[in-house]
Amino acid sequence: MRNCVLLSYILYFFPGLVLFKTASGLRTFNISALIDTRSVELRTEFNMEIKRIQISDRAGIYLQPKYRELDITDSFEVSNAICEQLENGVLAFVGMSKVCALSTIQSYSDTFHSPFITLNMPQNSTSDDPYQLYMRPHYIDGIVDVIVHYDWKEFFYMYDTDEGLVRLQQLFQAFNVREYELIDINVKRVEDAVESFELLKQTYGAIKDTDLRVLLDIATDQARKLIMSIRTAPDMINNRFHFLLADLDINDMGEETLKSGLNVTGFQLNATKDGPAQSKDRDIYATINNTKITLEKALVLDAVRLIHKAAKKLKSDRHDQRLTGLNCRVGDATVRGSPGKNFMRALRNTTYNGFTGTVQFDDRGFRKKFKLPLIQTTMTMERAKVGEYTREKGLKHHDPVVVPRPGPKTNDVNETKIVTTVLDPPYVMIKTDALKEHGPYMSTEERCGKHKFEGFCIDLAARIAEYVNFTYDICLVKDLTYGTRLENGTWNGMIGELTRREADLAIAPITISSARERVVDFTKPFMSLGISIMIKKPSNAKAHVFSFMDPLSYEIWMCILFAYVGVSVVLFLVSRFSPTEWHVEDDSSITNDFTISNSLWYSLGAFMQQGCDISPKAISGRVVGSVWWFFTLIIISSYTANLAAFLTVERMNTPIESAEDLAKQTNIQYGVLNSGTTKDFFKYSKVAIYERMWAYMTSATPSVFVNNNTAGIARVRRSNGKYAYLVESTMNEYTNMRKPCDTMKVGTNLDSKGYGIATPVGSPLRDKLTLAVLHLRESGELQQLKKRWWDDRSECPSPGTASDGGQTALTLNNVAGIFYILISGLTLAILIAGCEFIYKSVVDSKKSKTSFGSVLRCKARLSFRGSFDKDASDAGVPIRKTMSTYTYTGPTQLPGFDPYVDTNNTHTQV
Ligand code: GLU
Repeated sequence: MRNCVLLSYILYFFPGLVLFKTASGLRTFNISALIDTRSVELRTEFNMEIKRIQISDRAGIYLQPKYRELDITDSFEVSNAICEQLENGVLAFVGMSKVCALSTIQSYSDTFHSPFITLNMPQNSTSDDPYQLYMRPHYIDGIVDVIVHYDWKEFFYMYDTDEGLVRLQQLFQAFNVREYELIDINVKRVEDAVESFELLKQTYGAIKDTDLRVLLDIATDQARKLIMSIRTAPDMINNRFHFLLADLDINDMGEETLKSGLNVTGFQLNATKDGPAQSKDRDIYATINNTKITLEKALVLDAVRLIHKAAKKLKSDRHDQRLTGLNCRVGDATVRGSPGKNFMRALRNTTYNGFTGTVQFDDRGFRKKFKLPLIQTTMTMERAKVGEYTREKGLKHHDPVVVPRPGPKTNDVNETKIVTTVLDPPYVMIKTDALKEHGPYMSTEERCGKHKFEGFCIDLAARIAEYVNFTYDICLVKDLTYGTRLENGTWNGMIGELTRREADLAIAPITISSARERVVDFTKPFMSLGISIMIKKPSNAKAHVFSFMDPLSYEIWMCILFAYVGVSVVLFLVSRFSPTEWHVEDDSSITNDFTISNSLWYSLGAFMQQGCDISPKAISGRVVGSVWWFFTLIIISSYTANLAAFLTVERMNTPIESAEDLAKQTNIQYGVLNSGTTKDFFKYSKVAIYERMWAYMTSATPSVFVNNNTAGIARVRRSNGKYAYLVESTMNEYTNMRKPCDTMKVGTNLDSKGYGIATPVGSPLRDKLTLAVLHLRESGELQQLKKRWWDDRSECPSPGTASDGGQTALTLNNVAGIFYILISGLTLAILIAGCEFIYKSVVDSKKSKTSFGSVLRCKARLSFRGSFDKDASDAGVPIRKTMSTYTYTGPTQLPGFDPYVDTNNTHTQV
């Protein structure tokens, strides 16, 4: 092999040796490349391929390259160039054939039996025995198939060369053959990407409700520029555009252009997978295999290789070579017997696997048996193969097969994996040492290093890596966000890094969502959660002295009061009308126990669960009494049942209990995290309440959106109950356990979902990671980790516990009210007693015509000593002593005086 290489290099650099080698057995074929001045780089490819062939050649074939740079659109220059090359003994040409010079090329190659291998699209020849071979397949039918498949009735056709016009004609013919009903093709010839962009921009502004479909037949670099301009235009919704590329080189558009977020469809001819790079010549093609070759280059390589293969096919007949020149102007006579005919036959009969797939031609010189994969990238789908066009079977669509992106990240399992993550306690936190070293804001260079971080996700990453067996490093996501789809269809945050293959996996609290699942792969969830509401804890409802009133509401107390009065009045009335209640006293007076005051007293006694000396005897009165007892029984039981709870549990009056509460008020602001699934939840929700909440959030000023959870939580804390944060329940629970313990979760979760580990689409790690997650879940390790980072780090007493020793015991505050009532009652009683005392003294002094002072003294003495002394009688105060009590004694009383009984009363006071 090394000798071959040496030989070829000698031949290449010292062409003068050709004759010598020819004489010593090598069969030389002069071949010419007619290269357009605008594509001079193809000359190098042509040259290099010939060198590579010489290195591997074992058939004694030597291809002698000749070049001619020219303006391929100038037919006069083309004819001169062909003549010149023919005179130099060229047997076959490789070159471009533009429409304006094609007939010149056809006529020269047909006349002089000189095969012309063109890199361009096939055009029909007028000759029965054409000497042209077209390296680009005829695939207009493929394009028509795509248009029919997507049912494009109206679209733009943008082209920049005359070839485009020819293709348009071919398209119309193909549509006619199929009887496909087109409504309109808006044909535009453009100069470059700028002009096409302006054109589309105008149309975009004018047509608001339909998508813009464009069949783009402009140079690859211009098409790339146009697509990128649309991608990055801030005021254009990318999803409204769908580009169908007319050439066969969609993969040459570049990674940026083909990122998901814009609809681009096109065919791809050059696929190195089955080409010579995989054949026995793979050593020679190793370098090509590693570098991406463009379609144009692939076509040149295949054309040169085709010539070499055909040359090998010819019998070792020296007449098959053409080393002597032809005189262009002499005509047919010189050509006769020339080797061109045999060579053309050999070319047509050659089949091989090239960089552009199977290289094989029919009698018209058109490629056959080729396969054109249809590649597509959409708003939500990474570049994927969605179908395949073959001349024989037409376009066959199938489910998208994602084309892995080439890039710095490979699927090599031994490579250190980059794990992207986001700072959010307790999932990922900067360790104290690193915090001291870098501060809270790490620069791009500082953001990597697994030793710098700690938290649930860091532990999870370590366990996963151990289970799956890979080495990894942890890097913070550059824009510090989770990931949302941007206006231009691309993604930011961790999801963006995965789609751009800047990271191999993301281990973070990333919520699994359908939109994300389209652009990245997720494992099974490692944690479950839902959107919840976080508010600042309202200060506890202060226990007040009348807390014992709380078990029953104000309305109930008022109703009880009215019921009490009502019952007493009814009892009084029914007793009045009921004869049973009337009884005759010893003195023949008729009395009724149920005076209004006795009725009130009776009802009060019953209500207080106490007895009373009187009770109704009439049935009507007993009915009243029974229902009142029953009423009080239920009321008192309910009161007692509630009392303990109301006196001992510190109650919080939360202003918000649910999302509905939030939605129907404007006093308390509420917001969510930017670039996260919670925001997306509200943005895309079709539930009326959430739609209303979203409308509020987007219109609120100042903005209610925050850039990270820490900012959201801080806002809740400092807004004194005027800001509620909609956050995932796991984060909510964690925050509520952290000092200063002033936040709380209210209401139930709004939805339910899970966090998963994310990988780029098609990553070989995905299944292994899922297995690892399931293993950790089943073995209880995930639960342990959760406990470690949540419960064990709790800094606040869990709600309802009596950790401070005093919360469940009653304090004086709770019951002070009943003491107040007691004291007030006693004071009132003393005051009333005093008033009675004075009143009676006045009355007595008047009756006995004694001075008020002496009556007062006498009575006071009685009250204090508990007995009369004789001074009383001395003083003329007529008081009788009966044992130790002083009672009304009926007719035996001293006329005109009774110290305790009001003689006007008609019945006994009990
Ligand atoms: N876990 C969320 C996500 O993956 C971020 C937090 C949120 O949106 O509340 O986007």
